[in-house]
Amino acid sequence: SNDGSFTRIYIAGHHGMVGSALVRALERAGHTNLVTRTHADLDLIDQAAVDAFFAEQRPTQVYLAAARVGGIHANDTYPAEFLYQNLLIEANIIHAAWRHGVERLLFLGSSCIYPRLAPQPMHESTLLTGPLEPTNEPYAIAKIAGIKLCESYNRQYGTDFRSVMPTNLYGPGDNFDLNDSHVLPALIRRFHEARVAGASRVTVWGSGMPRRELMHVDDMAAACVHVMGLTPEVWRAHTDPRCSHLNVGTGVDVTIAELAQLVAEVVGFEGEIVFDTGKPDGTPHKLLDVGRLRGLGWAARIALADGIRQTYRWFLENQGQLR
Ligand code: GDP
Repeated sequence: SNDGSFTRIYIAGHHGMVGSALVRALERAGHTNLVTRTHADLDLIDQAAVDAFFAEQRPTQVYLAAARVGGIHANDTYPAEFLYQNLLIEANIIHAAWRHGVERLLFLGSSCIYPRLAPQPMHESTLLTGPLEPTNEPYAIAKIAGIKLCESYNRQYGTDFRSVMPTNLYGPGDNFDLNDSHVLPALIRRFHEARVAGASRVTVWGSGMPRRELMHVDDMAAACVHVMGLTPEVWRAHTDPRCSHLNVGTGVDVTIAELAQLVAEVVGFEGEIVFDTGKPDGTPHKLLDVGRLRGLGWAARIALADGIRQTYRWFLENQGQLR
């Protein structure tokens, strides 16, 4: 380019809920030079293939949104894949980003990196201060390794690799599988099917007591683009080299029982809600401290009830291509 500010942005995981929201947000911000690859075209677990891709495409920025993800049951059922695949994906991409001179990278993690009983709301500095929630420990370990990879390359090689830890996300493009999805898409589908079938009751997993913070994926994507637009000076002034990850949340949480009630209202289900305490609750409470994020000038905009309504519309309009 002639102005010296040429950016070429690779979005890893662009078919996923978060990656596709990132593509929408970047396009809305006027970026036309996005690089994407389907899983069939580039297997991120294949180190040589990832290295060759970076050598050929020379992205200047990377959004690392590719991951093996799932809800509490999927995490519990496929612990080997959740650890192995996520470690390889992030190690391959972060290493290749360093080798091929990527100017800025954003690694997406998860709020499950924090100790199971971390004080609420959870501050970035509570990382590695206590035992993890067993149902998603392998996934959390992989995500912690990703943060530490970014910090290590930054310390040793002066790279600008940043990490964001989103709270529980939902929205268009989510996985609505009743077994492997996260709670909100599962509830949307279960309440919808119950209403359509005229069923009198819907079963919700666990006690209904756990508290979760849910954020719309378009808010997450907007936060990511905001964070990638910060100068290195501003980013470094608000983070610590050995605790550099940034929480991204709404600052608001609800109980699973309240969430189920909200979904029932949006979907129009008027029957009874019952709780299956034979299913795991997972972490009792998961709310992020978003002070660091606010200090960097960003706050979530999409209220939960609005986000659920919008996601339910998307679900209804995309019956044919649900995952
Ligand atoms: P977590 O935040 O990692 O625990 O992920 P989930 O989104 O899978 O689960 C959040 C909470 O919702 C847990 O307490 C689950 O037991 C509860 N939950 C209630 N019904 C469902 C359901 O149908 N699917 C899932 N995934 N979770 C459910």
